[in-house]
Amino acid sequence: MSSDCIFCKIIKGDIPANKLYEDDDILAFWDLSPQAPKHFLVIPKKHISGPAEVAGADEALVGKVIRMGAKLAAENGVEQFRLVMNNGPEAGQTVFHLHMHVLGGRAMNWPPG
Ligand code: AMP
Ligand code: ZN
Repeated sequence: MSSDCIFCKIIKGDIPANKLYEDDDILAFWDLSPQAPKHFLVIPKKHISGPAEVAGADEALVGKVIRMGAKLAAENGVEQFRLVMNNGPEAGQTVFHLHMHVLGGRAMNWPPG
């Protein structure tokens, strides 16, 4: 828990979010500024500031983030999707609590911008 972290505040319930899944370890909610017809975020409840800060002890947790992202995509009618984790401002990270974007519902370009 980091007191000035917006995603920790969502986990705590201090800021509302449009949730699609929650358990003891993770939370998934629809992105406020969707970049695809289906765009949600999956986050660990543990505050980890980004992909580069994932420790060995977090490996199972991050695996669950990926597994549940794919499962929730399928449950929301998305069989083909893109998973994105940004690390650092130059890569586009704006919230420094680990999160995985799940984007689907349209054709994606490669390379990404
Ligand atoms: P990133 O730029 O990879 O750090 O992604 C942060 C994402 O969080 C962006 O896609 C934002 O639209 C999204 N976001 C920020 N605040 C909220 C919020 N309160 N509820 C839902 N999504 C949010
Ligand atoms: Zn946090």
